[in-house]
Amino acid sequence: MRTTVSLMLLAMLFNACSPGQNAASNSTPDRLPNIVILFADDLGYGDLSSYGHPYIRTPELDFLAQHGQRWTDFYVAAPVCSPSRAALLTGRLPVRTGLYGQNIGVFFPDEPGGFPDSELSLAEALKERGYVSGIFGKWHLGDAPHAWPTQHGFDAWLGVPYSNDMDWAGDPDFDAMRALGLGSAADQAERSQILATRPGKYANPLPEYFNTPLISSVAGGDSQVEQPTDQATLTRRYTEAAIEFMENNVDSPFLVYLPYTMPHTPLFRSTEFEGHSLFGRYGDVIEEIDWSVGEIRRALENLDVADNTLIVFTSDNGPWLTMYEEGGSAGLLRMGKGSTFEGGMRVPAYFYWPGRIQPGIVSEIGSTLDLFATTMNLAGLDNVTGIDGFDLSETLFDGAQSPRNEMPYYRRGVLYAYRVGQWKLHYLLEGAYGQPPERTILATPELYNLRRDPSEKFNVAAQNPDVVAEIEAAVARHREGLEIAPPAFDARLAIRGIQ
Ligand code: MG
Repeated sequence: MRTTVSLMLLAMLFNACSPGQNAASNSTPDRLPNIVILFADDLGYGDLSSYGHPYIRTPELDFLAQHGQRWTDFYVAAPVCSPSRAALLTGRLPVRTGLYGQNIGVFFPDEPGGFPDSELSLAEALKERGYVSGIFGKWHLGDAPHAWPTQHGFDAWLGVPYSNDMDWAGDPDFDAMRALGLGSAADQAERSQILATRPGKYANPLPEYFNTPLISSVAGGDSQVEQPTDQATLTRRYTEAAIEFMENNVDSPFLVYLPYTMPHTPLFRSTEFEGHSLFGRYGDVIEEIDWSVGEIRRALENLDVADNTLIVFTSDNGPWLTMYEEGGSAGLLRMGKGSTFEGGMRVPAYFYWPGRIQPGIVSEIGSTLDLFATTMNLAGLDNVTGIDGFDLSETLFDGAQSPRNEMPYYRRGVLYAYRVGQWKLHYLLEGAYGQPPERTILATPELYNLRRDPSEKFNVAAQNPDVVAEIEAAVARHREGLEIAPPAFDARLAIRGIQ
């Protein structure tokens, strides 16, 4: 892995355009473009106005849709937080980087590992071209200081190291809860009793239930500046910090990565947004994120760099359906977060760059995996190897067909399904968070025509044996080029002596 990445880095350096070729110096108008990635957490496919939600009003995202591109078939590489984020930041499938778990789906607090030095992050890659990078939001790729984003290419960070519900005040920590689950009947009863208190706390979240820390590098060097984090202010503070960072770095090309903590439960919003939405607290939270999107766009305009900045807005995975009214909706897509049905991995996505993007609706396949390769092209770093993404530039700027025609659906390191064109073949069916269907390894894979049946209701494998064969061949090619790395998230079990 180390060798691959080093070679990749060398290849990228070797192929970098010299100043004056594609890229001018920072002071000239045709300097390298800025990249702004706005990344919601657990936002569903059906949660925004322009994706059909009747009550949540998102005029700023509608603006991006109207003046940019809205993608209908855009995917993340994993249906949960940590592997999805790792894929966005590396352009590599979690099974290739090892940033996934078979037993543990995401990183939890007190994680001994985290984002490895052997992986090249988007921020590290861009540094070679003089970019400065800031992250304003949830990292979720390891909470140990060696794993923090400022150790992996980012110059600034304000945010939380993991999900906002991973540090329950007064409850045993992750390892202790896991040990209770494997312990005596009394231990297991104690664990069940603790878990039984949580739905009520999610439904009526109070700040004192959670002990999430806030990390800031603003004062120089990372330090914990708050615990518990005042979660109601997070969307606003991330936005303000991102804008301040852009103002301070307007003379350099910059990457702003803004992974919102919301709408991952528990839901918090600032007082200005309480009661803002017809859709209750979840709607308030989304409408505050929409406000944030507008603030970022206007800040770029005020800094006179909007016409040299790509804004991408998307989500890390589908909605957390077992949160009931506190969770979002995948609209007409089946299931949500945690599953490899469309609702788990197909997410809203907008691309905006005034004067460059061909406005419209794109119904071809794209993925967060592709943001790395796309950004490399924009930064003048070509011939990137060892990644799983495609450069979407020609689709974004010239209206060309998307270079991606296939999408693998992995869950915990296992390939559950595979899409080619409009067709999706399922090898395993499984709901998430206790929802049906139960895990079923299909003796005969099921085929769905997503264009005609986006809700994945009608298995048409028997009628289309040629399509099944075509996808089977694509899967064989996919597996051929893939060396599966061991699951890094599970390593803590052995280290801590728990299973
Ligand atoms: Mg998430």
